[in-house]
Amino acid sequence: MGIVAIQGDVEAHAAVLARLGAEAVRVRCEKDLDGLSALILPGGESTTISKGLERLRLYEPLRGFARSGRPILGTCAGAVLLAREVENHPVPSLGLIDVVAVRNAYGTQVDSFSADAEGDFEGLRCVFIRAPRLRRPGPDVQVRARVDGWPVFVEQGAVLATTFHPELTGDSRVHERLLALVPAVP
Ligand code: GLN
Repeated sequence: MGIVAIQGDVEAHAAVLARLGAEAVRVRCEKDLDGLSALILPGGESTTISKGLERLRLYEPLRGFARSGRPILGTCAGAVLLAREVENHPVPSLGLIDVVAVRNAYGTQVDSFSADAEGDFEGLRCVFIRAPRLRRPGPDVQVRARVDGWPVFVEQGAVLATTFHPELTGDSRVHERLLALVPAVP
């Protein structure tokens, strides 16, 4: 399991993986991707993370990682970076999931809040911190959970995105879903 370790909530994701018995490798260059079975793009500040991805020349290697069928989970800023298109102070994104991410869509009065999701992950507690909203999910995108009607957890193939922070609660169902998508080694 890899976690892109440029900025953001890297250690909290590593702690969840450790609880699930998976070792976390901090990814800071293309070489670090070798041999990883899955990858997490954590929340944080998508502007900072995208500058780091550019500096470390990681955009194409991450797209290649996804093309190889290995699962990727992006949370909050990570979801922004996975989107096809980004609105409201756009950042260069990877275009790995067919949604439009609107950054900081809940406005400054509502910087952070939590709510229970509806959908396949009933009762999943979602913590939102300056969260994006996802709109216009394409035909290949499955919406796995919603809050107030908005998609908060989407999947396209082996690419998963949450607008909330699944690493901040004791509920590890999102990480378990990522692990379940790891292709079986023949
Ligand atoms: N607002 C941040 C961004 O757009 C995301 C916040 C987060 O990851 N908690 O980059």
